Amino acid sequence: MLELEDALERILAATPPPQPESLRLPDADRRVLGETITAPEDLPPFENSAVDGYAVRAADVAAARPEQPVRLRLVSRLAAGQFPTAPVGPGECARIFTGSPVPPGADAVVMQEVAQPDPAEPGCIVIRESVTPGENVRHRGEDVPRGRVLAQAGERLTPFKLALLSAAGVAQVRVGRRPRVALLATGSELCEPGAVSELPRGHIFESNRTALAALVARAGGVPWVLPLVPDAPDALATAMQRALNECDILVTSGGVSVGEFDYVKAVFEQLGGVLTFWKIAMKPGRPFLFGRRGGTLLFGLPGNPVSALVTFWLLVRPALWRWQGAREVAPPSCPGELAEPLVNDDARRHFVRVRVEANGCVVPAGRQASHLLHSLAASDGLVEVPPRTTLPKGARVRVLRWD
Ligand code: AMP
Ligand code: MG
Repeated sequence: MLELEDALERILAATPPPQPESLRLPDADRRVLGETITAPEDLPPFENSAVDGYAVRAADVAAARPEQPVRLRLVSRLAAGQFPTAPVGPGECARIFTGSPVPPGADAVVMQEVAQPDPAEPGCIVIRESVTPGENVRHRGEDVPRGRVLAQAGERLTPFKLALLSAAGVAQVRVGRRPRVALLATGSELCEPGAVSELPRGHIFESNRTALAALVARAGGVPWVLPLVPDAPDALATAMQRALNECDILVTSGGVSVGEFDYVKAVFEQLGGVLTFWKIAMKPGRPFLFGRRGGTLLFGLPGNPVSALVTFWLLVRPALWRWQGAREVAPPSCPGELAEPLVNDDARRHFVRVRVEANGCVVPAGRQASHLLHSLAASDGLVEVPPRTTLPKGARVRVLRWD
């Protein structure tokens, strides 16, 4: 049986390089950047005002006090979007607004709250407070100087990175294409929710594909949910063949164990697939199939819902991101402190479903067997407990958090 890290390494090594496509910036949120982008110009592109007020020479108003104001001659008025031509000379000021370019000669801006037109002398402004040189001025290039890296190949874009790129004038970006991920569930006991008025005896409602579709979408993939397939080799072969022909990644659930009706492995090989590994030393999720057919990846997840979803999250999610070109594929994590001990008597490492309370305390999210969905639904993430180990109350742990 493989260790999780070895399994992940093999999966990432087998994941093909990203296929770039061009997108308009507004469509690129959460996508993985396929190119490194540097600032083509200084940002901001010119000295401009941070407030509504008056552009001045700071030296002229150094002595200004409420009880001893300074009077300056108003020489121009600059709305945002205009560009100044006339300089501000000694004893002069210019009306200016937030975002307006600071005219040459001026080196600071007085807020309009401490200045006003002089009623006694038209064309003059009375300034009641001093400013230091540079005060209320946004400097050219202070956000990002020209040539600085704005975003790197392999980064995941966020609304905030999109803002930065947009401010730099970028309209289109190269990103990794999203993989089409086929989701196939096999099991003769499975029933489509909503398809029957009453569950036939011995059947259960299928739940893996629904969760997997959501997990695939969150990892940037395009889910393609296939109809349920019974435990019959022919039906499974037909469904898997179609899926393999038309997807980038095939994720199956169920039928990968050692039972008499577990056909996924044999059918995959019969269809020309090559297995890389089959079992992983972890709980939940011992049976886990990984292989390739040409450039198409196959992940055969166990059928038990918690095993399927946890192994997806630890092993398939990273592959989906890497497929799109992401450099960082590890799950987000945070530190926490155990509010009660976590016991693992098993020879395999155990990924325990936990909740993280507001104060950082970590508690088990409920009972931990692989068929129990309520504790998975209540959890914020996983804590790993090594084989045959008890982590005591108060232990500092790292929580792998759902994203
Ligand atoms: P298997 O891996 O096929 O041996 O299935 C293990 C357990 O998971 C069995 O109890 C199945 O009924 C259950 N199971 C398999 N596939 C699904 C599914 N898609 N949704 C819900 N439960 C499933
Ligand atoms: Mg089964």
